[in-house]
Amino acid sequence: MPAPPTLKIIEIFPSIQGEGMRQGEPTVFVRLAGCDRRCSFCDTKYAWEGGREYAVDRILENVHRIRRRFPARWVCLTGGEPFMQDVRLLVRLLKRDHCRVQVETNGTRYYPTAADWITVSPKPKEYLVRPEFQRLAKEVKLVVTRELDLAVIRRIRAAFQSRIPVLLQPESNRRWSQKQALRLLKQASAANLDNIRFSVQLHKIIGLR
Ligand code: SF4
Repeated sequence: MPAPPTLKIIEIFPSIQGEGMRQGEPTVFVRLAGCDRRCSFCDTKYAWEGGREYAVDRILENVHRIRRRFPARWVCLTGGEPFMQDVRLLVRLLKRDHCRVQVETNGTRYYPTAADWITVSPKPKEYLVRPEFQRLAKEVKLVVTRELDLAVIRRIRAAFQSRIPVLLQPESNRRWSQKQALRLLKQASAANLDNIRFSVQLHKIIGLR
């Protein structure tokens, strides 16, 4: 009999979704291990490597145990970079159990999943995004680093349909980055770019993970 599939997991925990258009919704987070982008501003460097092997069944058990005391309907697969592992079975089984599933990705890897909500966050310097996400993403998140400029925002805006919001998210809510995000928002507005929004990490403001 084949061994049950496993995934490398850093942590599973309840919180509210602090980022993006789902901000404020109770969510169980499953943080997957592994990311090869090595962004200098990454706030989850502890997820770049390592993690513990969990059978998919055990991940489901953990999620359900959390949901018994914290009845979140949403489960967010984050990282790290979730698409570096095969999350298809996990997504399918979570949905079988009536969860709604979000996947947060940097957009450089792709395979089809049954996820309900895909958040794409392209990263510098190339800001590469697999073309499939142009159709599938529900939102695009750009961390406001010192490298982010109007030309990048313009290129990302053009790559996605205008109904998909492009969120300018200050780096770890830092003051300089908030100021830069506001400057970029003004420039984007003056350039008639649609649906560009300022976005903060709410969970950090209220002291949650
Ligand atoms: S892509 Fe995301 S998880 Fe990976 S290093 Fe960059 S910020 Fe961190």
